[in-house]
Amino acid sequence: MTESYSPLLAQLIDAFKCLPGVGQKSAQRMAFNLLQRNREGARKLAERLALAVDNIGNCERCRMLTEDPVCGFCLSSRRDDAILCVVETPADLLAIEQASVYRGRYFVLMGHLSPIDGIGPTELGLDLLEQRLGNSDIEELVLATGVTVEGDATAHLLAQIAQRHGVRASRIAYGVPVGGELEFTDSGTLSRAFTGRLSLESSKEELGA
Ligand SMILES: [Zn+2]
Repeated sequence: MTESYSPLLAQLIDAFKCLPGVGQKSAQRMAFNLLQRNREGARKLAERLALAVDNIGNCERCRMLTEDPVCGFCLSSRRDDAILCVVETPADLLAIEQASVYRGRYFVLMGHLSPIDGIGPTELGLDLLEQRLGNSDIEELVLATGVTVEGDATAHLLAQIAQRHGVRASRIAYGVPVGGELEFTDSGTLSRAFTGRLSLESSKEELGA
């Protein structure tokens, strides 16, 4: 670090660089802004961040982020147990909730298959998903992974798992742009994608390939 920064300032700027898309310039801007204009906000941020990091874990049923053992989506009695929607991230789950088209349960992979980054079935919690498919009345698995190469590969594997457990699989597709991450898809489009989800029954040979 240059000699123009005090060690504490340099460390703060460095810490901001752990945020996605934040380089030296943005990190400096955030650090200066908080110290010059918003010390109260900075203190609150530090406290909330520490609380969240210490207390938030994963729901033991669906892997959603929560400070409770089981999250509100799993505990709610107003949801349909026969249908389970698999998403890549908590942000995807919230995007689907905001579209208000789906009232079943969720399973959050916390990523997608990516062998190059060492992300395989274990990292995605697929053993937990299999347990769930084996011990419940789930009739349909909705594969709402991204419409990307990795999202498709993940959906392919999930469809094979569903087939093994005799559960019908469907894939959202219609309206979601190719290369699209769910999180950034608008509610209207997501809503149509759910209503028009495609059954994967007819493409079993392709799935087995
Ligand atoms: Zn849950």
